[in-house]
Amino acid sequence: MASVKILRPGYFKMVNEEGCEATCTISLITDAGKKIIVDTGNVGEGKEIKKALKKNGLSPSDIDYVIITHYHPDHIGNNSLFENATFVDGVETFVENKFHFFEEKYTITKNVTVIRTPGHYSNDDCSVIVKTDKGTIAIAGDLFWSDEKNLPPFIFKKKLLMKSRAKIVKMADFIIPGHGDMFKVSKKK
Ligand SMILES: [Zn+2]
Repeated sequence: MASVKILRPGYFKMVNEEGCEATCTISLITDAGKKIIVDTGNVGEGKEIKKALKKNGLSPSDIDYVIITHYHPDHIGNNSLFENATFVDGVETFVENKFHFFEEKYTITKNVTVIRTPGHYSNDDCSVIVKTDKGTIAIAGDLFWSDEKNLPPFIFKKKLLMKSRAKIVKMADFIIPGHGDMFKVSKKK
């Protein structure tokens, strides 16, 4: 089974009508010897990420995969820190100039699958489904903002978003949202 650790929980705060403070939740998955990071925070947060990795006996060069849930700036700021990683988003994997496309889902290891969950930022947003000893954990980016109820303040297409959320709620026992800590899914199918 895979293990999931939140390297740094995200948060969000409106400062006034014209601005906010935001950092995203950054997660570390380990499965079958592969080290996987989900989302990489804001530009300038590299130091904090390195520190959090070090606590887990890792450095950025040890990371095999970086999963990009979507392309908002607070989720991709330190992608270039991970020089040995294969990058995965909702439609493709890439290393340097080589892109490989996939349909709907991409299996990284036996217990770690990336699935498309559109609606928050684009048609191509994704979530990561991780099978662990505790149950299934979905790392969902901003599809879930901070808990099961709160909607993200920015929505690309609400109908798509609600459909993707329902899909994740059905699949997952726990959800790691884009700007908060892990929570337990309340109702099962
Ligand atoms: Zn976002």
